[in-house]
Amino acid sequence: MGSTVETLEFQAETRQLLRLVIHSIYSNKDIFLRELISNASDALDKLRLESLIDSGLDADTSDLHIALEVDRDARTLTVRDNGIGMSREDLVELIGTIAKSGTAGLLEKIKETKDAAAAQNLIGQFGVGFYSAFMVADRVTLRTRRAGTDTGTRWESDGEGTYEISEAEGLPVGTSVTLHLKPVDSEDGLADYLAAANIRRIVKQYSDFIRWPIRMAAERAAEPAGETADEDAAATPAVDTLNSMKALWARPRSEVTEAEYHEFYQQISHDWLPPAETVHMRAEGTFEYEALLFIPSQAPFDLFSRDAKRGVQLYVKRVFIMDDCEALMPDYLRFVKGVVDAHDLSLNISREILQQDRQIRGVRRRLVKKVLGAFKGVQTGDAERYAKLWTQYGRVLKEGLIEDTDNTEALLELVSAASTHDAEKSTSLREYVGRMKDGQDAIYYLTGEDRATVENSPHMEAFAAKGFEVLILTDPVDEVWVDRVPAFDGHRLQSIAKGQVDLDDPEDADEDAGAEKARREEEFAALLPWLATALSGQVKQVRLSSRLTTSAACIVGDAHDMTPTLEKMYRAMGQSVPPVQRILELNPAHPLVTALRSAHEANADAPGLAEVAELVYGGALLAEGGDLPDPARFTRLLTERLTRTL
Ligand code: ADP
Ligand code: MG
Repeated sequence: MGSTVETLEFQAETRQLLRLVIHSIYSNKDIFLRELISNASDALDKLRLESLIDSGLDADTSDLHIALEVDRDARTLTVRDNGIGMSREDLVELIGTIAKSGTAGLLEKIKETKDAAAAQNLIGQFGVGFYSAFMVADRVTLRTRRAGTDTGTRWESDGEGTYEISEAEGLPVGTSVTLHLKPVDSEDGLADYLAAANIRRIVKQYSDFIRWPIRMAAERAAEPAGETADEDAAATPAVDTLNSMKALWARPRSEVTEAEYHEFYQQISHDWLPPAETVHMRAEGTFEYEALLFIPSQAPFDLFSRDAKRGVQLYVKRVFIMDDCEALMPDYLRFVKGVVDAHDLSLNISREILQQDRQIRGVRRRLVKKVLGAFKGVQTGDAERYAKLWTQYGRVLKEGLIEDTDNTEALLELVSAASTHDAEKSTSLREYVGRMKDGQDAIYYLTGEDRATVENSPHMEAFAAKGFEVLILTDPVDEVWVDRVPAFDGHRLQSIAKGQVDLDDPEDADEDAGAEKARREEEFAALLPWLATALSGQVKQVRLSSRLTTSAACIVGDAHDMTPTLEKMYRAMGQSVPPVQRILELNPAHPLVTALRSAHEANADAPGLAEVAELVYGGALLAEGGDLPDPARFTRLLTERLTRTL
């Protein structure tokens, strides 16, 4: 039947968009296949749904699938589905126009943008979808028949401004899209889309979890010359299914076995150990998504390298969109692996748009809570396993105390720290608070480079003598978070190397103690200012200490002074830090200190007195694990002194 061929014009905006697509906005041309498969998959969903609703619909849903067909001679690739199909009106409406609002304004912006990457981001705001076919094809022929109708439609265009549309006889229900491929051009990013290996690769990467089978005729060895092809084989060539269809995340939790989770985890992480924790969730409502997340048993080796990979993949309705979707996971949870499948996003959504998307931020908040909840679950359920998990992720979770103030509480609950309470076992803050002494209002801690230095630091003396527990914080990140976190459970965190310390219970402080203190201040009234002058440029104040029992002196900071470890860290990172002047505290009961006082009283100008002051200061620096400003000079002064005593 000679049906008439009509030539129609694309709507003006569609034409503009087509031009943009063809003139390579996308550096990754492979995605055309993802787009066409996604459309086919939607069409299959729709047909199945419609046949469920309308049992009278004349449609065969027994073998819904997508077929990819290559014709090497004609240089065509066809994506065929036996889904819902389109009527002539559908075609004109859906393919001939871009009905989405705001397109005109968007196109204006894109035209103004000279930068290709920025243009791509803009275009991500709506799907290019079907038109992406014109990135790889110079002509596209679409044949389709809507389920429940008798006549099919043929549509064809070179993407230049017009399309032809005509009736077509004898079409099955569904749609086929035939791409007349442009020549292979690696410079333009055009791969050989007739090559089965390429097609397999692209399907595996982008469409592996599409729930309908994606089939392709198996490659057969070329027929030996002279032999006739096997009739049967020619009639029904072997067919491979290219996609695994196993989107575990889309199945209810109760239907997935541990072994399946493990296998899936292996597939996406290439880690052969089973995951430590699995988080599987589904959100319904205005923004639907599923998430399947894993905490690996072992932290990735590059957890602290600047360009470490982040694990979460983004899918939209089972179509792979991107790896390392940083909008979905905060930096400090960068070790989490898994998949998030959001249902209502454009396939072309860009990273930048994701970052700004309010709903995506909502998803991220939920996911963070879930992951932290998984840690909490292990902590309450299995202390030994938690200790292992904390060894892997503690340092990076503590970054969350700096980055993520929304979850400070939850993160503080997870913190596990070494403590003077137990030489072997770490403690949680909650446990620490449970052991606090009557009248103790702060959680005491000391930061430093390692446990031994911190434990033997002079600052510990009075706390140890009076039986106060002190947390020993030796991760570099500890230096930072302790300053950011105001309190845990109503108790502030207090460095024992900062500020004034008064461990005496105000209740027991009798008048004698007060008088004793006043007497001491009096005794040292001359020495302290003299020392401050002798050490000027190195310390900002010299005062008497109540935190020392055995050491002669120690160095303390004001509440906001940088700690020596932090100072070192900044220097190691190549940042210049102004020298921090801290406070020298003297133990008024120490023989060296009392001897120094007597010597100063006898003769403030006695030779060598200033050197002793320097030695006292240097010793205090060394005791807390600090660096001497001039180690050679310190050693020389000490050697001279020792020589004189022998
Ligand atoms: P989107 O998929 O984001 O809607 P597309 O440009 O990919 O945008 O497709 C436009 C519309 O054309 C689809 O929404 C669908 O209605 C229709 N369509 C495209 N491909 C098919 C197909 N294979 N079967 C049925 N309808 C299709
Ligand atoms: Mg689409």
